[in-house]
Amino acid sequence: MRILILEDSKPTQHLLQSRLEKAGLTVDTADNGHQGFQLATSNAYDIILSDIHMPHWDGFKFIEAIQVINPHLPILIITSSHDDRHTLDRLEHYPNVIGVLSKPFDFEALFKRLASIPAQAHTSVNKKAKIVCTIGPASSSPEMLGKMILAGMDVARLNFSHGSYEAHEATLLAIREAEKTWEKPIAVLQDLCGPKIRTGLMADGAIRLMAGEVLIIQAEPVEGNVDRISTITPGILADLRVGDPVLLDDGLLELRVVKEGREEVHCEVIVGGTLKSSKGINLPSTAISLPSVTEKDWRDLDWGLNHSIDYVALSFVRTAEEIKTIKDYIKASGKRNLKVVAKIEKPEAVQNIKEIVEISDAIMIARGDMGVELPAARVPRIQERIIQLCWEMNTPVITATQMLDSMTVNSRPTRAEVTDVSMAIKEGTDAVMLSQETATGVDPVNVVRTMASIICEEERYARGGADHYQQLMEDAAINPALSAVANLSTNTATLLLDPDGTLYPTLSKWNRKVPILLVTKSLHVARHAGLYNNIFPLIIREELGRTEMVFRSLTMAREWGYIHTGEIVAVVEGARLTRSGIRQMGAVQVLRVEKD
Ligand code: PGA
Ligand code: MN
Repeated sequence: MRILILEDSKPTQHLLQSRLEKAGLTVDTADNGHQGFQLATSNAYDIILSDIHMPHWDGFKFIEAIQVINPHLPILIITSSHDDRHTLDRLEHYPNVIGVLSKPFDFEALFKRLASIPAQAHTSVNKKAKIVCTIGPASSSPEMLGKMILAGMDVARLNFSHGSYEAHEATLLAIREAEKTWEKPIAVLQDLCGPKIRTGLMADGAIRLMAGEVLIIQAEPVEGNVDRISTITPGILADLRVGDPVLLDDGLLELRVVKEGREEVHCEVIVGGTLKSSKGINLPSTAISLPSVTEKDWRDLDWGLNHSIDYVALSFVRTAEEIKTIKDYIKASGKRNLKVVAKIEKPEAVQNIKEIVEISDAIMIARGDMGVELPAARVPRIQERIIQLCWEMNTPVITATQMLDSMTVNSRPTRAEVTDVSMAIKEGTDAVMLSQETATGVDPVNVVRTMASIICEEERYARGGADHYQQLMEDAAINPALSAVANLSTNTATLLLDPDGTLYPTLSKWNRKVPILLVTKSLHVARHAGLYNNIFPLIIREELGRTEMVFRSLTMAREWGYIHTGEIVAVVEGARLTRSGIRQMGAVQVLRVEKD
């Protein structure tokens, strides 16, 4: 039986630990709720003994967090007998709190109690790869967002294909509130819809199209019926030629143009089915005259520049030039350091991928539209190639769409979906994305937890391959300190002193075995790091000298449960002028964590 004890009083902690160990039980200890949560996300405990009054997350906060990641894990509360009625009453509301152990301890009763606890099933959710969650009606409250953060969400995606500015603003506020409550920096990604062509609304929300029938797409808005539908981008009608395929709802339905026209286009239904309101239209063979950044995108981007957004994604990118236009605009605004994500979903983008990766701050492999714009059978190889390229160019990459799609309605993923997430991790993606699974699904927290557990399982086998090693050799000359620490294997964590956030992107690619704790003053740097594999930020706001900075970050890393007494930690920093006037290129220091 494996037990976790949370207790900030050392004598009490030692007393419990020694008695339980004497009885042959395996015991881990933590001094506060946050540390305890870290341990409980990566180890299989059968029961937790927890104090209530502790620094860094008290007992209540800890119990709430545990309920998210492991709702059935039993918790026995340790309390001084003088704990007030109110506190004890509050504990009654938590179903996994199985009782109270008051001082002085009755060990005989405790052992009897422990003997009745069954062994717990458990999966680790303490992952290194990042999870991007699309936020929607199912997930936009601060409580739900908080639970998703605990379950493993790192980046929240606001989809500007849907929703008003008021709604996005409310969601953003809720994200920032949850981020503060659980003390984990969250990056917010604003996803601009680009020239995404959509249908208009349908009568009663959906219509049924039959193969062989004729359907008219018209410029004038109309409530869609089996004869006529409209599109929110009527400009495309003039681009359509007889014979062009028109794919609806990610290609589930297919039409073919039989009669051209500016005001209306006649199509034959080739593959029928149910068509709901506002579904996507893809025109893989049509030369579309729409601009890549639409008027709505510019307006939305201005909104992003005026709100606390960290990444902005551009859909249907075709060339590097388009990304440059957006980057120049952001720079000229002088407002904020908004990083740009290129969504790869058009054949032209796949063709121009090198230039696009080179100029973008991050890449999204947007497999949904990609699988319609290109033959779906090509998607897996394109995905692998883009991840490899991003690896070589030190760019974070998100693998997106349909990863756990069936969990929008089900409580368990299909085995094919599990394999898909696992393969993306194996290929080296920085992040995996959830779309409607978390935006409108039945149980967003369960989806995030499931994804985290799949990532963790695959990460147990992570290692640098031959390509990785080659890359490291080539880059070693530029960054000797980083390559040295990438090869180190005795340390349990790496502390990266990187105030401006210039080193962590490289180290994120080079070392995915040992957690990298990014020490920074800036909340913005910490949020941006949310998209990079294996980077965990520690924010220390004060101006400190190097020694004090190392000392402070070690203390913090220990308080938060990242490192423990006796373990070895590598400290890495980049180029700087030292206090004694030496021009340092880089430095690696290997330390042992001492008892406090
Ligand atoms: P979307 O982008 O969800 O905004 O369409 C992702 C994709 O196409 O895969
Ligand atoms: Mn898309």
